[in-house]
Amino acid sequence: MLLQLCTWQEIERYLECSKGVIVPIGSTEQHGPNGLLGTDAICPEVVARGVSEKFGALVAPTLSIGMAQHHLGFPGSLSLRPSTLIAVVRDVVQSLARHGFERCYFLNGHGGNIATVTAAFSEIYAEKSFSGGNNHPRIRCKLSNWYMAPGVKQLSAKLFGSSEGSHATPSEVSLTYFAYPDAVKSAEMSPKLAPTGPFYDADHYRSRFPDGRIGSDPSLASVDAGRQLYEAAVEEVARDYHEFLKAS
Ligand SMILES: [Zn+2]
Repeated sequence: MLLQLCTWQEIERYLECSKGVIVPIGSTEQHGPNGLLGTDAICPEVVARGVSEKFGALVAPTLSIGMAQHHLGFPGSLSLRPSTLIAVVRDVVQSLARHGFERCYFLNGHGGNIATVTAAFSEIYAEKSFSGGNNHPRIRCKLSNWYMAPGVKQLSAKLFGSSEGSHATPSEVSLTYFAYPDAVKSAEMSPKLAPTGPFYDADHYRSRFPDGRIGSDPSLASVDAGRQLYEAAVEEVARDYHEFLKAS
């Protein structure tokens, strides 16, 4: 059930049975020589839609631009500042809360969003705490990274071992190829395995990681690996989402 394909009356009826919603959140940023700019938004979106198809969860529109300042040295990358993303997440949660949603499950595809989205949740709770007394609706937010789910991590390790790396990984690229097989790209990786290490701003990132990858060899990506990762991620995320709904 996709929120953008429902009428307001359908959402009103849904709220009589569930107070939960999945909000996919990602980024639009470079993903190395063969990865799509939309990788980090596409991955949580397709997993959330899989959970919706199999288990009837409601999925909100994807927040597809995240906190990716360190990728701005590469054309096509888009970023919100941390303060902007905090404002976006707050406004989305408060819109949902106004209608009676109480469990907002952010399914994330981008490591660079974690600190900022977590800070946004703290802002939302702080607003409740400082206003005192009126704690209704009882908003609970959770950030879950699809690629960190234990079953997904195990499968990534089995499929790609030490070639997985941490940015422009063969796992995430595979999942986008499964979702959009017409967009599969091929490119030579040089060196085969990208360098690793810390980064700060956009210029620093590009000087350390000239083709955009960190520690990975995404030339190993395939539609078939993407299908396996999709199936594992849908199972894991569905389980985690239902536990989140049950928790008090
Ligand atoms: Zn990514």
